[in-house]
Amino acid sequence: MAAQILDGKALSAEIKAKVAKRTAELNKQGIDVCLGVIMVGDDPASQIYVRNKQNACDKVGFCSRTVILDKGTSQEDLEKAIEGMNEDDAIHGILVQLPLPPQLDEKKALALIRPEKDVDGFHVVNAGMLFTGQKQVVPCTPKGIMAMLKHTGIDLNGKEAVVIGRSDIVGKPIAMLLLEQNCTVTICHSHTAQLREHTRRADILVSAVGKPGFVTADMVMPGAVVIDVGITRVDGKVVGDVAFDEVKEVASWITPVPGGVGPMTIAMLMENTLEAAERLEC
Ligand code: NAP
Repeated sequence: MAAQILDGKALSAEIKAKVAKRTAELNKQGIDVCLGVIMVGDDPASQIYVRNKQNACDKVGFCSRTVILDKGTSQEDLEKAIEGMNEDDAIHGILVQLPLPPQLDEKKALALIRPEKDVDGFHVVNAGMLFTGQKQVVPCTPKGIMAMLKHTGIDLNGKEAVVIGRSDIVGKPIAMLLLEQNCTVTICHSHTAQLREHTRRADILVSAVGKPGFVTADMVMPGAVVIDVGITRVDGKVVGDVAFDEVKEVASWITPVPGGVGPMTIAMLMENTLEAAERLEC
């Protein structure tokens, strides 16, 4: 039997509707929730992501302020833009659109964002809190994945979870969240030997690699939940890591690309921004 589709578009709409309701309550108290976005350069993919985030802000009733810096911007000017948003009480969440041009030190820039306003959850303080079981701001993509897993109704306790990819923004935090739910977690990466031996054990398989068609049906245990984080543009089309048509015949649940993890990431950005406003204002 073909897998059930984990519809990120529908689930994200539900989450955004809840955020909009809570935002309206804050508005009644005279609080306007505001997301500050800093973008450096004119990378077309980043422009699309920023536009999507601004549209989502409009839909849930936030205001958004976007600062666009020139591609050749210095570290000092980027840091000034971040400091400006840190000090601006009207801005509750700050997001620096990644990737940054090569002359800029991404880690140094992200470390400057006030942790309370770090709605991406990339600051070392927020990462440290997540890793020590005191989570405050959880990165949007892993948070969205956990909401999708909850939606399946599957009890994660004791499940084998395999994550392919070990980035700070997806692989490591999703592994921590799965561990928190008592999964037995394996993190695979480009040096992993016998990758298939690991993925074939997974009740929950998360792929965050960025290679189209990377996860094939023979790598998936029958009945597994398959979460495809990958986003790659091929001939103008957005595709994931998972060979969807063949893997859906093996898995029990599967996320499509587009329409899976992507919309959930934006919904969680809205939720994190609202929570930042509630923390800072209430
Ligand atoms: P990343 O930093 O480039 O990490 C990719 C990971 O894949 C690395 O850990 C790498 O291993 C691993 N990898 C590469 N080739 C491999 C192989 N042959 N076997 C096993 N592992 C391999 O990427 P990321 O930022 O985590 O993003 C991953 C993908 O998710 C990208 O397509 C990105 O666009 C997408 N993404 C989507 C969303 C969303 O909202 N849907 C959000 C964030 C990212 P090493 O560490 O050994 O190099």
